[in-house]
Amino acid sequence: MKTGDFELLLSHHFFKNTNHTTMDNEGSFKKLVSHAKEYGYIFPSSEIYDGLSAVYDYGQYGVELKNNIKKYWWDSMVLLHENIVGLDSAIFMHPETWKASGHVTQFNDPLIDNKDSKKRYRADSLIEDYLQKIEGKIEKEIIKAAKRFGNDFDEEKFRKTNPRVQANLKKREEINSRFIKAMENEDLAEIRQIIIDCDIADPVSGSRRWTEVRKFNLMFETKLGSVSEDADLIYLRPETAQGIFVNYLNVQKSGRMRIPFGIAQVGKVFRNEIVARQFLFRMREFEQMEMQFFVKPGDEIKWFEYWKEARMKWHLALGINSDHYRFHEHDNLAHYANVAFDIEFKFPIGFKEVEGIHSRTDFDLSQHQKFSGKKLQYFDPLSKESYTPYVVETSIGLDRMFLAVLSYAYTEEKVPDANGNLEERVVLRIPAPIAPIKAAILPLVRKDGLDEKARTIINDIKFDFNCQYDEKDSIGRRYRRQDAIGTPFCITVDHQTMEDDTVTIRYRDSMKQDRVSTTSLREIIGKKVELQNLLKEICGSSG
Ligand code: ATP
Repeated sequence: MKTGDFELLLSHHFFKNTNHTTMDNEGSFKKLVSHAKEYGYIFPSSEIYDGLSAVYDYGQYGVELKNNIKKYWWDSMVLLHENIVGLDSAIFMHPETWKASGHVTQFNDPLIDNKDSKKRYRADSLIEDYLQKIEGKIEKEIIKAAKRFGNDFDEEKFRKTNPRVQANLKKREEINSRFIKAMENEDLAEIRQIIIDCDIADPVSGSRRWTEVRKFNLMFETKLGSVSEDADLIYLRPETAQGIFVNYLNVQKSGRMRIPFGIAQVGKVFRNEIVARQFLFRMREFEQMEMQFFVKPGDEIKWFEYWKEARMKWHLALGINSDHYRFHEHDNLAHYANVAFDIEFKFPIGFKEVEGIHSRTDFDLSQHQKFSGKKLQYFDPLSKESYTPYVVETSIGLDRMFLAVLSYAYTEEKVPDANGNLEERVVLRIPAPIAPIKAAILPLVRKDGLDEKARTIINDIKFDFNCQYDEKDSIGRRYRRQDAIGTPFCITVDHQTMEDDTVTIRYRDSMKQDRVSTTSLREIIGKKVELQNLLKEICGSSG
């Protein structure tokens, strides 16, 4: 399980595994990983023992950013919706839970090994990557033609008539339908055959010598009880959703909730992922933020549409450019779902899922009813009927969202130094309301009472904002350090401060500086960093 050097975690097979990645992206992703370590965001777990594969620790700034994202999600669910409440269920659950949910029999990934490189892959991912490659070819043709024809370009017509596009569309369709069928029927031999027929090579070695495809269950097992012979086999939960399902009636009854209502939960989950060399994107221990929304059967599509839109608004309110997001509809539905969309984010490794929105029907509640023998029906006081609610789920990986924010924020740029010469700066343009440190208070020099004055300012605003005091190095270097951490405001205390109680405030993104009174700091900073700003943005755009 050892991984060796942290930088090697982004070993080159990872990039070769995906078809969107350009060399530029590869380079910038590597830089992001080392920046995250150098500036206290992410450390490899138990690094002094060479790390543990696909397990990471959040450093002093990482934990702040993670907590802020969590709070943004939580407040957007629980504060903004009267009919959504929270829950914190245990990681350990009765083992029957996972039989009922289908995880014991169906939470499997098809794995395949390459005989030459000895590397292990998810067979479905190899095929998905291949399909994406074909899509990439089609897109390229379209971009080329759009350039050639300019304003007269008719994409639909081009798709229908261009022979190369047509051939690729046909090929994609054929492989995709074989793939969907094989996944549905768990036909492992056919999955392997698709890999052979498509001539898919190992991204590392280029070899096409593949083993059989095998099923691999992703749940971690452990024992509950002190005497090993009597101990019960239990699992570390692979999703938080089941804790919500088994508690739904407890919450409904104790909270006198009426359908439709939702239960939100954030918590650790564990998956023994087959391919885990993708930094925070695919971890073995990670956190999910899930909300299960219980609705009347028949209303699920309406609510599904509602949540699909609401969740996209949540992402966009962060100010991330909308070209970094897209929806992706599942062709290959999970056993519990009747419609499912992913929200995909443009990571440095290409567009990948960051969140799933699933209409789960009454599958989970019905299964728990069957396995537990307990009635899990809701009594509707208006219509006086009992029914098993349908569920619409929104499920987002906290760590994946963290990676999305960090990768979007990471910017290298050339800026003028004090003498007007261009120098490089690395800045994390993290949206101010979720930035780990909101303001750095910097005395220009450590004498003449400037340091004490800086402390007085910090003591005044520390109850409102997470602040940092820094007096080491030149002011220019301190600015750069705060840029690299992503601090939106630097407040510099100089000799003039001692005379007229004003300071300079420097804005991270524009690097502009203003002279302002110390008494106005709370208002200036507050306007930009309040989490409320994001929540209001969501509500504002929803009317
Ligand atoms: P994938 O297809 O990438 O394996 P999934 O469809 O299995 O993901 P879900 O079970 O829908 O994922 O989980 C919901 C969310 O949890 C995902 O959208 C993702 O953000 C996050 N997630 C899933 N697996 C991991 C992982 N191994 N590491 C980090 N985040 C993950």
